Amino acid sequence: MIIRKITTALSTLSFLLLLPALVLAQGRVVESDSHRFEEVAEGVWLVSGTGSVFTMSNVMVLVGEFDTLVVDSHVTPAAARALLDSLPVITDKPVRYLVNSHYHFDHAHGAQAFPEGIEIIGHEFTRKKLNGELGNVLEENTFKSFSDPVPSAVANLERQAAAETDPARKARLEERHRVQRDYMNAIGEVEPTPPNITLETKMTLFQVVADGSREIQLHHFGRAHTGGDVLIYLPQDKIVFTGDMMLPGLAYMGDGHVDEWPATLDGLLTLDFDTWLPGHGPVMRSKETIGYFQAYLRDLWVKTSQMHSSGVNFEDAAQQIDMSNHSQNFAQIRGAGVDPRAIRRIYQLLDE
Ligand SMILES: [Zn+2]
Repeated sequence: MIIRKITTALSTLSFLLLLPALVLAQGRVVESDSHRFEEVAEGVWLVSGTGSVFTMSNVMVLVGEFDTLVVDSHVTPAAARALLDSLPVITDKPVRYLVNSHYHFDHAHGAQAFPEGIEIIGHEFTRKKLNGELGNVLEENTFKSFSDPVPSAVANLERQAAAETDPARKARLEERHRVQRDYMNAIGEVEPTPPNITLETKMTLFQVVADGSREIQLHHFGRAHTGGDVLIYLPQDKIVFTGDMMLPGLAYMGDGHVDEWPATLDGLLTLDFDTWLPGHGPVMRSKETIGYFQAYLRDLWVKTSQMHSSGVNFEDAAQQIDMSNHSQNFAQIRGAGVDPRAIRRIYQLLDE
């Protein structure tokens, strides 16, 4: 009994002594001017922009004993250069691998800024898209629908800043204008850069770390947000980087396979993880969101199919389809109407 008490006291003591170290390893945040690095586990960082450079998406950085692996490259070479210039705040190990979660511009158009000779790993479909084999990504609807409005947004911000009389608000508007103008100019520099190593369903890398090796699994469980989504899974840390296949909110569906997406998310759910890092947004712990999103996708497919078979055109269908029965799970849903790019895409799949 006494021994037991002492043991308990000792383990409580050692727990308290360990606690600061645990907090340090799992919650450490380091910033450069342009980037915020959050250490999710030892050597595993979720990286986002601070706002001084337009980055548009998250990056994951895995620091090993001899090298660094980066997942995704932001929206422009300029944003990627700011990332690479910031890496010394967390490591001096050189970048050896860049992994593409998928081909979309906001995750892949920084690749050309990475050092010559590094390996870029992505799905076969991602290579075909960024290689131009399936058409020029700079001319497709997704890239254009996000990038074409940028010049008018820049002009608007310039006008608003000029008209603002409150000094603090004026300064904020001028800063936003500068960031968006730099982004606009950086778009012109983009040369889509494909992966030089591809996978079809699975690849595993073993990165040397201080106490052994870190297993890095790349999985393609099927089509979802694009035709080539890759999840990056770290079994030892029970962490998965989901890209845009799974976000805290509703993902863009303009290149999606909404009919196949829920089954692909079942693949994600077969992995043993307790933390997921999305392509946009904060570190996530809840798996409930994944089930909610599967339900949304299935419902959207049914509702859109009904509109399609009734002969309603996609623009009208996008205004009429009401997904507000999911609004308690997704705050961005406010009444009827969905992104017309999603409905156009589903119509395209239904017409195939
Ligand atoms: Zn995307």
